[in-house]
Amino acid sequence: MPRVSYVNGYYQRHEDALVHVEDRGYQFADGVYEVCAVLGGVLHDLDGHWDRLLRSLNNLDIDLPMSKAAFTVVLKQMIAKNRLKEGIVYYQITRGVASRDHALGFRPRPSLVVTAKRVGFKDKVMLARHGVGVIMAPDMRWARCDIKSVALLPNILVKEVARRRQAFEAWMVRGGVVTEGSLSNSWIVDEHGVLRTHPLGSQILGGITRQTLCRLAQDLGLSFEERAFTVEEAKSAREAFLSSSSSFVMPVTEIDGVQIGSGLPGEITAQLSAAYWDYVEGQTGVNHWR
Ligand code: PMP
Repeated sequence: MPRVSYVNGYYQRHEDALVHVEDRGYQFADGVYEVCAVLGGVLHDLDGHWDRLLRSLNNLDIDLPMSKAAFTVVLKQMIAKNRLKEGIVYYQITRGVASRDHALGFRPRPSLVVTAKRVGFKDKVMLARHGVGVIMAPDMRWARCDIKSVALLPNILVKEVARRRQAFEAWMVRGGVVTEGSLSNSWIVDEHGVLRTHPLGSQILGGITRQTLCRLAQDLGLSFEERAFTVEEAKSAREAFLSSSSSFVMPVTEIDGVQIGSGLPGEITAQLSAAYWDYVEGQTGVNHWR
């Protein structure tokens, strides 16, 4: 069955799905995106991703191309046409097509592109039983990391450094403080047993997974603070993990070659992972943790 993608109103064979050369997403990275996990053929956390998409668009003064109801139909069609049981849907909205000029005197029609990709999340959960390594890298990004912009050059450069060093992710560092990963949020359980993650603000992307984990941490009665941590605090942490829509809760057992805690996924991390998968199961009926 051929893979299908959506471009501005049309479902097309993936190979034929093209945007115009003067799309401002292509010319200027003038656009935003979202990635939603699909489990059991169901979109996970669509409302959270929708709210963040609206915030990103508002911040950049890009118009919404269609209503939430119409948009949900497109996403569901993409799941059906690609027979996607498990994987991700990626959607991107750019300011649209216009003759290349930094400033515009008009509002072009925004471009909407949706793609779907199969991912076996069971493998991710297998990996989570062992934990992964991360490296530290400089945070070279702009001053509005809270906007989910398609301008990901600093993110892809540090992720490539991580890949070359056989690490799962790069944690970005600004002024000695860990902000977040190249495509995930960063967490530790510090040496006093306090669960910590960087506070919301312009220095990080407010992850939808992060948002859920903050709520679950409170429900579980964990000692928890939205307080940034330094590279040293990360390396001497009892536990560490990262979170994202497609990695869920991923234990970090090594940072820059330094073993974290016992070198195995920590207890609080496992507790959060179990609670997170219960939450996923509530929405999608799928629980790969059990
Ligand atoms: N930070 C960055 C920079 C990201 O790209 C992502 C992935 N979208 C995240 C954090 C995690 O966000 P979410 O939990 O919504 O996937």
